[in-house]
Amino acid sequence: MSKLPSTPIYSCETYLMACKQFDRAADAINLPETIRDRVKHPRRAIVVSLPIHRDDGTVSVFEGYRVQHNLSTGPAKGGIRFHPDVTIGEVAALAMWMSWKTALVGLPYGGAKGGVIVDPARLTAAELERLCRRYMQELIPFIGPQVDVPAPDVGTNEKMMGWMVDTYSNHMGHLTPSIITGKPLALGGSQGRREATGAGVAYLISRYLEDMRIPIAEATVAIQGFGNVGGEAALALARRGARIVAISDYTGGYYNPAGIDVAKALACVASTRDLAAFDGGSAITNEELLTLECTVLVPAALERVITPEIAPRLRCRLLAEAANGPTTFAADKFLEEQRPDLEIIPDVLCNAGGVIVSYFEWIQNLQNYYWTRDEVMEKLFRQLEQARTAVERQRDKYKFSRRLAAQTLGIQRVADAKIARGLYP
Ligand code: NAD
Repeated sequence: MSKLPSTPIYSCETYLMACKQFDRAADAINLPETIRDRVKHPRRAIVVSLPIHRDDGTVSVFEGYRVQHNLSTGPAKGGIRFHPDVTIGEVAALAMWMSWKTALVGLPYGGAKGGVIVDPARLTAAELERLCRRYMQELIPFIGPQVDVPAPDVGTNEKMMGWMVDTYSNHMGHLTPSIITGKPLALGGSQGRREATGAGVAYLISRYLEDMRIPIAEATVAIQGFGNVGGEAALALARRGARIVAISDYTGGYYNPAGIDVAKALACVASTRDLAAFDGGSAITNEELLTLECTVLVPAALERVITPEIAPRLRCRLLAEAANGPTTFAADKFLEEQRPDLEIIPDVLCNAGGVIVSYFEWIQNLQNYYWTRDEVMEKLFRQLEQARTAVERQRDKYKFSRRLAAQTLGIQRVADAKIARGLYP
């Protein structure tokens, strides 16, 4: 166990969960006590106050965060979440997971995450633009293409990244696309970035189904969350031949044993923002979706949805964690001990396609030399396959669960870099 007590500012269930995972992994690889606290705790956290003019002439002040967990292995990297329930502790946990993820897949990055307490659906487009710009403006002293490179996450998208690039570029006096990834193609975005996380999830699912000797054409899939990751994963899995039998978003779930028409569901979200008007399946709750009988369950919404109550009721063969932290520490322990028949692709591996193509986007921006979509996808799948192979080797060598294998690889690489750098001054 590390000795430094968790600072109360981060204290929340999601941060405690990330800390428990770290402690377990650090014990499993006998990480020296002298390095544990340095590897575990966030390097720094920035809290910003964000006043904006509302369309009615009043002023509202929002609160935002950026937590830079690790800067020792390169610029910090991680998305920005706009959500009414976001806390600095949740952002710190997500930043910690980014550190392990970038290290696991071999990217020259650290880990970070950002958040703003807001429901973006309750702002007009003009108000949202002002909030994005204000958030970026407040972060300018703390980020940069060689310091910290944000990206989209829950509640943020390409368009919002475009406003943020413009704000940063105006301050610098020249277009600086490498400040942010997941931006529009017109501003130096990468081919394939929008679909990267979902396409990566689908790739890994297909590879693990091969290992399990289940033809993808016989696989049924239930997906919780139908935003960037869930929607793109559904599309990519359907294209690979799987049958998507259930989807959901914050409005509820939709079940169709004959197969959801994914294109129709995506069109519904594109025109009305959510699935409330979707008529391609019968209504189910999000909890019913999680416990459906299916080959693959893909949580692609928020953290901690697979609880100790849900875990014993899972009826899938493969749990593909597209969301960050969807399985609580206790639920994971239960699955590891009681459900050897259930395969898990842990979040740090499963959703790493997003940050891999973000890295490709950043390289293209720095070089001003742009790649085709085929090049991006081929490199993405190759890098995911290397990470998958490394995880399977670690698993076989130490008899770890797949999650422990993935996390120990990431944590060890961060620790090695910190040890090699030494302690300054
Ligand atoms: P998003 O905002 O595009 O979509 C989120 C989806 O979850 C929406 O459909 C929303 O309605 C749904 N949702 C919200 N609350 C819900 C609830 N209580 N029950 C069911 N559904 C609910 O976000 P996203 O970018 O798709 O991110 C989803 C997850 O994937 C997050 O955990 C995020 O951190 C992770 N992730 C995202 C990326 C990326 O590139 N965007 C990369 C890696 C990991």
